[in-house]
Amino acid sequence: MAKTRKILHLDLDAFFCAVEEQLNPELRGKAIAVGGQPNERGVVSSASYPARNYGVRSAMPMAQAIRLCPHLIVVGQTRGVYGDRSKAVMEILRDTAPYVEPLSIDEAFLDVTILPDDIETIARKLQLRINDELDLPCSLGGATNKLLAKTANTVGKAQKPKAAPPNAITIVPPGAEASFLAPLPIQRLWGVGPKSAQTLNELGLTTIGDIANWTEDALVSRLGKLGADIWRRAQGLDFRPVLTEHEAKSISKEVTFTADIADEAELKLTLRRLSDGVGRQARKAGLAGSTIKLKLRWTDFTTLSRQATLDNPTDLDSQIYRLAARLFDQVWVKDKPVRLIGVGLAGFAAPNRQIGLWDDRDGEKQIEGLQSALDRLRDRYGELAITRASDLHFRPNEDNKR
Ligand SMILES: [Mg+2]
Repeated sequence: MAKTRKILHLDLDAFFCAVEEQLNPELRGKAIAVGGQPNERGVVSSASYPARNYGVRSAMPMAQAIRLCPHLIVVGQTRGVYGDRSKAVMEILRDTAPYVEPLSIDEAFLDVTILPDDIETIARKLQLRINDELDLPCSLGGATNKLLAKTANTVGKAQKPKAAPPNAITIVPPGAEASFLAPLPIQRLWGVGPKSAQTLNELGLTTIGDIANWTEDALVSRLGKLGADIWRRAQGLDFRPVLTEHEAKSISKEVTFTADIADEAELKLTLRRLSDGVGRQARKAGLAGSTIKLKLRWTDFTTLSRQATLDNPTDLDSQIYRLAARLFDQVWVKDKPVRLIGVGLAGFAAPNRQIGLWDDRDGEKQIEGLQSALDRLRDRYGELAITRASDLHFRPNEDNKR
């Protein structure tokens, strides 16, 4: 079974205001709003907590903000500085966590599953570092998935008094996902917009717990596919992985032959090894992709790419290879020499097989068990330790290099 994940959501508190306060310390502790001037139809892009105390919110017209808080100090945006400060924050995050997915200039998801500390300790240390090294307040939510980590952070921040930046840390322990969500209003659930909220309210559903207690079928009949998503989220389930920018694009492996290869068995064996490498890297990153890519370069350096899509994302070597080999068969002309061959995986989403929590498919479980045993052996003894029986008929030095 999949390991329980440790996911953090980090959000800088009133980020633009915090940066402006660094540039001008006299602003500290005061009701300020960063944004456009009221006479220029300016809008609030960030409000300090003392200003929020008066009801000032981001995206509000500045003129309205001043009506709510007459002593509000309006600060114009300083160009350039926010991006630099944000970069410094992301560097600390990448220094702490193996997987960081920035969401915006002041928000990110982190996957810290492989770190030995418990999630609250990791959150605490990270917050201290950002407070001390960058003088920026920040709040963190922690849980077993992205949905709960972000929701925990939003709820935790809202519970703090408005007078100062919250610097909140809110952790939902494993197993408490559904009970944490249950009392919250349905609008708090990701994916529930004003329109679906109205539909749900008309059905008498007001809390996320109400949704969770309905049947999936009943929600699907009212809301279509969204109904299934909302129902699943209401149970506290979310299988999306944390994606770094690099990984979010694709994982690929390729090899350029020292001498061009025209032998089908050798090309297929190479394809198999490359597929294994791609699958293994995907599993290490907790990613599964539904798009398989094949790249071939002929001896005249012309390059050809083909891709195909699976119904469900995969991280299994055999599935990646099967599709890559099919693409190869479609484009390769017998005896045509190949200079370079490559396999890629893209179109990432959570591995569908994790849904096996309640949908028990023994066959897939066996494949997964075998797959992770192979990964462990290769980690210990190197890539060449394991050879498939299907590879054994092929011995490069005897049969094929004539
Ligand atoms: Mg923020």
